[in-house]
Amino acid sequence: CGIIGFIGNDALNGILNGLELLEYRGYDSAGFAIRRAGESQPEIHKCQGRVKDLREISPKTGDYTCGIGHTRWATHGGVSDTNAHPHRVGKVTLVHNGIVENYKELSEEYEVEDQLVSETDTEVVAALLNKFYKGDPNEAIRRTVKKLKGTYALVVMFDDIPDTIYATRNVSPIVVAKNEELTILASDPAALYEYSKEFFVLDEKCILKATKAQVSVVDFNGQEVQPKMQVVDWDA
Ligand code: GLU
Repeated sequence: CGIIGFIGNDALNGILNGLELLEYRGYDSAGFAIRRAGESQPEIHKCQGRVKDLREISPKTGDYTCGIGHTRWATHGGVSDTNAHPHRVGKVTLVHNGIVENYKELSEEYEVEDQLVSETDTEVVAALLNKFYKGDPNEAIRRTVKKLKGTYALVVMFDDIPDTIYATRNVSPIVVAKNEELTILASDPAALYEYSKEFFVLDEKCILKATKAQVSVVDFNGQEVQPKMQVVDWDA
């Protein structure tokens, strides 16, 4: 329902504030995964309820610099702490907006059922990404999304690639902005305005690689794609 990716100082507040800015979209659960500079495995905090409930179970401060956050509108699997995003399988942690229709078939075909702890379509995507991940995130993302039927905005962290967030999408939106201090991704430009007047919409069938200093986009053939910057329309 709402997605944030944040790389920069004070990522904890960046993510929680971003999720609050997306609250108007409505949701039933919220969560985030967050890392310090150079750190591989993220901490995950998630629960049913509002962002204020999430704040209560979260660290109050911390020198976190890279994280992903989510507000969930449950479509597959009930409203519960376990079904809240992010989902993590092996080296892969992700958040997802949308619906993966063929998740049951994929879970059987790739025999990942015993790795799943939730009832969501999303966790199957994490398991597939982890299965296909052999050190090349683009390859793993390409192979995974080729199998998916449905809509998705996926924002992903790989344990062995610190300080970096990957994203891809089909139908469900992802917008990206950066300034000298940070890079931010979101499902809605409303979460970006306080950081930059310029943003771009990630093209479909492309993969975004984002660090604090740089964003790059490639298509599924590995060709670099130049993002088309848009300027926020303040009158809109
Ligand atoms: N289908 C996913 C779920 O139910 C994502 C829903 C959403 O977009 O919030 O967990």
